[in-house]
Amino acid sequence: MPLPVLMQLREDLLDLKGTGIGILEHSHRQPTYDRVLAEAVESCRVLGEVPDDFEILFVSGGATNQMALIPLNLLPDGGVADYPDTEVWSAKAIVEGRDAVPSATIAVPFEGKKFRYDHVPAVGEMTPTAGAAYMHYCSNNTVHGTRFHTPPIAAAGVPLVCDASSEIFGRPIDWSKHAMVYAAAQKHLGVAAMSLVIARRDLIRNPVRRLPSMFSYWSHATLESRINTPPTFAIHTAGLMFRWMISEGGAREFERRNDAKAALIYEIIDGSGGFYRGLSRPECRSPINISFRLQSEALDKRFIDEATRAELDGLAGHRDAGGIRASLYNAMPLEGAQALASFMRDFMRKNG
Ligand code: PMP
Repeated sequence: MPLPVLMQLREDLLDLKGTGIGILEHSHRQPTYDRVLAEAVESCRVLGEVPDDFEILFVSGGATNQMALIPLNLLPDGGVADYPDTEVWSAKAIVEGRDAVPSATIAVPFEGKKFRYDHVPAVGEMTPTAGAAYMHYCSNNTVHGTRFHTPPIAAAGVPLVCDASSEIFGRPIDWSKHAMVYAAAQKHLGVAAMSLVIARRDLIRNPVRRLPSMFSYWSHATLESRINTPPTFAIHTAGLMFRWMISEGGAREFERRNDAKAALIYEIIDGSGGFYRGLSRPECRSPINISFRLQSEALDKRFIDEATRAELDGLAGHRDAGGIRASLYNAMPLEGAQALASFMRDFMRKNG
């Protein structure tokens, strides 16, 4: 989290907008909260350059909740949806989709597992299903560190739905190619257990089945993301994060910074003569999550232990892939990547 946002939150816990009442205490039906919500929606629209025909929703529950709500809203009984499997979160979405609508088919036009998830499908590598209700994909894969540099191509006229949880606003979004983009808030937007859902109005206006209101994106849209008591603190935090990202130069600037941070680490991996081995093919490397291994698990462990002692924390790879993972989310400054790069060079010198 960026320090200016944390400082503002500290103030807002005690006194929001000079009201003498904190964000946790304000009613969600009063003018002060109306402003919080309006500012969050408006700043999200500006930061994301979100077109007017897209609704901006704050939905309680994380990205996993959306993995159930998306098929419930969009996938009719007996229908088909395409889910390229590029790793743990897209695989999770496949399971959730099958459980949410057992009568439908979740088609998997790309099975990344066969390639140890070392890449995302190249253009022409998968055959999308004609007439699918939608295609769901995960744009940045946090475990093996792969990313779609351009969105996958669904069959003609099939809406594209993107899980951007681990990279939202780390680069601009091409709205002409997407019908829905969603993200759990904890990585780039602040507080866990809430999701930002940006969806084209015509996609969500008529859910394919009758749904309880909390499960219906259209209910969230018509009732301004406050069907019930909303996660006001998380929404306010997301609003502050949007404004912080705007003040720093917006998604294009974060793309530039994230690419610069990642280049420092990938340069070392590529120049290490095999001492460090990336898990992702170079053409689909993620600038946000950089996953690599050393020659043995023992050396991986030594790397992580020594890094932790050098105050470089959280470098253990995901349990599915092992090895090392450096996560360079938007709030990570260049100095963080520089410190890691310098540690990697030293470690190689001592152990290579
Ligand atoms: N999708 C992606 C790409 C993720 O990185 C994560 C984890 N933050 C999730 C989904 C799951 O999110 P949540 O724990 O909020 O359900």
